Amino acid sequence: MLHRREPLNTRPQRNPEFSLIDRIARHAGQRDGVALGIGDDAALLDPELFDGQQMVICTDTMVEGIHFLNDTAPRTLGHKSLAVNLSDLAAMGAEPLAATLSLTLPEADARWTEQFMGGWQALAEQHNLQLVGGDTTRGPLCIAVTAIGRVPPSQALLRQSAQAGDLILVTGTLGDAALALSRRLDGRSMDTELARRLDQPEPRVAFACRSRGSIRACIDVSDGLVADLNHLLAASQCGASIRVDELPLSEWLECLPDPQQACDLALTGGDDYELCLSCAPEEVAAVRQVAEALSLRLSCIGTVESEPGLRLLDVDGQPYHPHRGAYEHF
Ligand code: ADP
Ligand code: MG
Repeated sequence: MLHRREPLNTRPQRNPEFSLIDRIARHAGQRDGVALGIGDDAALLDPELFDGQQMVICTDTMVEGIHFLNDTAPRTLGHKSLAVNLSDLAAMGAEPLAATLSLTLPEADARWTEQFMGGWQALAEQHNLQLVGGDTTRGPLCIAVTAIGRVPPSQALLRQSAQAGDLILVTGTLGDAALALSRRLDGRSMDTELARRLDQPEPRVAFACRSRGSIRACIDVSDGLVADLNHLLAASQCGASIRVDELPLSEWLECLPDPQQACDLALTGGDDYELCLSCAPEEVAAVRQVAEALSLRLSCIGTVESEPGLRLLDVDGQPYHPHRGAYEHF
């Protein structure tokens, strides 16, 4: 047995990592059902948090220079790193509950962290989500978020459930984030609302949770409509025809001098975080009603078919060929 002559110093060390975690913890939020949040070796979530539902869990990583431009405002990154995960939960029809945040930072920058957490917290509060843990390390800027949600048993929206004859719908407008990115890369000024479409996507959580009973299959549009709809169709072993003149375009895209450019941005532009879903024709009215109640645009763009492949058709029903490819991760 070791005899201690002096009392142990039980105060936590104030090294830069710990003061950053303290700073993060002040913005963590709080909700029922979290028995233990930030501070121990792991978080504890009560069964009540899930209310007898299935747990839904997803992760998304954002790397500087790959997923966002160098010098992106920290507030934007705080919002977006959480938003992209909430969009994945929405695509499953799930309600967000909690998240963890793994931050790799070039230096322990208090100002950066404060602004990052400002963006995070504003979105987390909207969804009653608590930050329950994470990790903080030094290295090239990288943000990895894991989000946890719940969905009533067997009500999750899957990619694999589309059926021939379903209608294909999308929320919001497509291609705005890609337009905003190209303007930023060109160093052009732009409308703040257009910049928000890239920097502050609004995950369609409320829409998905309220309409899940009427939706057959769902995916969020993160890599561009063509790429993501193809994932849904492949998982469902179906094909589809899309009418490109039905694609929902914002005023910014409508105003482009080249209508083909607008169309191609809507088909292949990434980072929109809208939802693309299929539903039986008799369910469309119910889904529309939910969208209307939320003042959310909802457009029917095509039909699921048994023949594999995605057919893009112009206003005359002729094949349409986009000029730019989808975003690829590698
Ligand atoms: P350990 O060494 O046991 O992993 P850490 O010192 O990394 O512990 O973390 C201490 C506490 O702070 C843990 O509860 C952890 O979940 C939390 N934490 C660390 N970094 C973050 C972060 N970036 N965001 C949220 N919580 C964090
Ligand atoms: Mg750790």
